[in-house]
Amino acid sequence: MTEQVIFPKGEKIANEHFSGTAWLEVLVPEDSTFYCPVFNVTFEPGARNNWHKHPGGQVLLVTGGRGYYQEAKKKAQVIRKGDVIRIPPDVKHWHGAAPDSGLTHIAISTNVQKGDAEWLEPVTDEEYTRLS
Ligand code: MN
Repeated sequence: MTEQVIFPKGEKIANEHFSGTAWLEVLVPEDSTFYCPVFNVTFEPGARNNWHKHPGGQVLLVTGGRGYYQEAKKKAQVIRKGDVIRIPPDVKHWHGAAPDSGLTHIAISTNVQKGDAEWLEPVTDEEYTRLS
């Protein structure tokens, strides 16, 4: 991406909940003052997270690039820099980059006292390829 960086890219994400290469910077750590950790997440082209749910919900602020947000049993929507995505508690969804563009978003996990994200199955290459 040639876009100007706002927040640090952070560290490469090394867990089984993501496909492709993604990066994470903790901007606000999880604590008992705010219950609202904030992360900068950068997805390289083709990268996305598995299907998952947030018991307390999540807000995404797209700060760069282009990608997808999809809720279970709904069509994927294209998301771009400037979009704000409100994800209600316990709604199964995924988010990530487009095949031909990176995506950067701020992820705000709200009400985390309600519990950790529940990670589910990956978005298959077949499901993902069908979107473009
Ligand atoms: Mn999410």
